Amino acid sequence: MPELPEVETTCRGIAPHIQNNIITKVIVRNRNLRWPIPKGLNTKLSQQKIISVTRRAKYLLINTDIGTLIVHLGMSGSLRILSTDAAIEKHDHFELQFKDGICLRLRDPRRFGCVLWEKNNVYEHRLLINLGPEPLDKIFNANLLFQKSRKRKTTIKQFIMDAKIVVGVGNIYASEALFLAKINPKRLAGKITKKHADDLTTAIKKILKQAIKQGGTTLKDFRSSDGKPGYFQQKLKVYGRAGEVCSSCKKTIKQIILGQRSTYYCPNCQK
Ligand SMILES: [Zn+2]
Repeated sequence: MPELPEVETTCRGIAPHIQNNIITKVIVRNRNLRWPIPKGLNTKLSQQKIISVTRRAKYLLINTDIGTLIVHLGMSGSLRILSTDAAIEKHDHFELQFKDGICLRLRDPRRFGCVLWEKNNVYEHRLLINLGPEPLDKIFNANLLFQKSRKRKTTIKQFIMDAKIVVGVGNIYASEALFLAKINPKRLAGKITKKHADDLTTAIKKILKQAIKQGGTTLKDFRSSDGKPGYFQQKLKVYGRAGEVCSSCKKTIKQIILGQRSTYYCPNCQK
């Protein structure tokens, strides 16, 4: 599943190709994504210029003078920059075509992604308005995490995966960040110390920055036509490694279920 680093990498990868480019046509081949792609986008967007491409949580925001396209990649979506005449594949559901002969094409086999339109302030859209801070922003810091965690009876892992607390900490990154911060994922959020909050915010930022950096080097160009989504495998310390030895203490990594999600940790290193 595309996580925040992949979405950030996608954002940086496509922006240079479509920013300041003029849309000539919007093609919807299958409207039935997680929510239906709104009608009338071709009429609205033809001859509009892309002002910028930004990201909020895992939403890509394609901004024009008259409004914003909100794109989410769901479980299996990917965006590529291709020549307009590149062959159409089975799951290519949506594309923006541009004046210089390229297109931005969305492929989404499982159709859990979305393409929506907001003509007013996009940050007030129902999908965005209640989101917590971005993990890499200064506003997300140890104080904030510590204050918000007081009296919370959920586990720390579920707490950091709550988008109202901080966005973009998916299941893999939550396990990895807790390992780095040496915190047991089962610990109650309300029971973490100030030091834990410090270590954990630092770990979350570090893990995500590493992944974005790696994505940047893996995907130099979104002009790939091999049809594979350009997601990248990070070197993970605990996630998916149940039964293997901990890289830090050589004891065995354990897998448990928290909030119905697989969780990996080292019981020796993470107290
Ligand atoms: Zn260990």
